[in-house]
Amino acid sequence: MMYERCVAYLDQRGVTLDDIADCVLFLQQRYHPELTLAQCRNVVEEVLHKREVQYALLTGIGIDVAVENHRFLDPQLEMIVQADAPLYGIDEVLAYGICNLYGSIALTNYGYIDKCKPGIIEKLNRDHAVNCHTFLDDIIGAVAASAAGKIAHNYEK
Ligand code: MG
Repeated sequence: MMYERCVAYLDQRGVTLDDIADCVLFLQQRYHPELTLAQCRNVVEEVLHKREVQYALLTGIGIDVAVENHRFLDPQLEMIVQADAPLYGIDEVLAYGICNLYGSIALTNYGYIDKCKPGIIEKLNRDHAVNCHTFLDDIIGAVAASAAGKIAHNYEK
């Protein structure tokens, strides 16, 4: 199943579902103090069950790994992606693709998480010196922000 493969690839790249749930808790705790990590992880799992999210995740990790192994199509673009050049921006565009499925709260939360870089996002940024995480950090941010958006909407029901 594609969901299991996504979780396995995340694990290979050093990211657990609890790491993502931690980011969700970071985003939503101030609004819902009773929210638990287990609840956040459940919503992360729901987001990761969506087919378009799985496609975005596998595409992003696929590009990161291709760049890391010097198997990317264009050597010049490979250097740009490896450098996580600020003007590249396609990693963010892919992340918006995930957020757009969950509405404006997901999008604004993604922008916030991208600035604050909590937990695993900061860890991936540090690890980027060794491995390429140009796409993965944004994908994780988008999945966490989407889960936060989903929680915010559920509380309004
Ligand atoms: Mg990035």
